[in-house]
Amino acid sequence: MIELEVLIKPICLFTLGSSEPSTIIDIPFYKVSTPTGDEPTIPGSSVKGALRSSATVIANDLGLTSCGEIDPERMSEKHSKMGGLCDVCKLFGAPNSPSNLLISSFKPLKPLDLVTITQVSIDDLRMRAIEGRLFTREAVPPGTVFKGKLTLLRDKPLFVKLLLASLINLRFEVLGQHGVVDVKVENIKGLEATELDSLSLKLLKSLERWWYELP
Ligand SMILES: [Zn+2]
Repeated sequence: MIELEVLIKPICLFTLGSSEPSTIIDIPFYKVSTPTGDEPTIPGSSVKGALRSSATVIANDLGLTSCGEIDPERMSEKHSKMGGLCDVCKLFGAPNSPSNLLISSFKPLKPLDLVTITQVSIDDLRMRAIEGRLFTREAVPPGTVFKGKLTLLRDKPLFVKLLLASLINLRFEVLGQHGVVDVKVENIKGLEATELDSLSLKLLKSLERWWYELP
């Protein structure tokens, strides 16, 4: 088992809609209630979904397989054509095959003040602003650092490589609503027993520092 502490830092205003109704904000940021009040949180499921898409994008470049599906029925069809589970589904799970990756929710490192932004509703068909249709949305300021934990249940080198590459690729993908985030890894436990190839070591090195602060 390998545990990684992962930091996620939005590099622009970051929004992640909650389904909880609010009388003040049209689209509040996702929050979890704690003894000290509601805390803005990135749920592990959102991070896992984004990482899975990220893995799907880069799997082939790593010489690994991906069915490219998220619909359970189509996933099973593709797997039977491929002769078994693809590598992405082995890591992230598929129908009747549990995930090898557990992802905690991501909490802000420090208490933070959300900002409220006002946006204009767009008529998708005409690509025009709808007059009088403004709405408010809560956002996290850029530079806010969230921390969470990833647990890889089976420490096969293949899973480590795919996970590290997915984390790096997340810097160029989308989290939440169009959110661009930086990703950093610290405090890895249990990696000693896994023999990593040179690419995995390079990926790990890149994840030891913020990407968007590189000189
Ligand atoms: Zn698959």
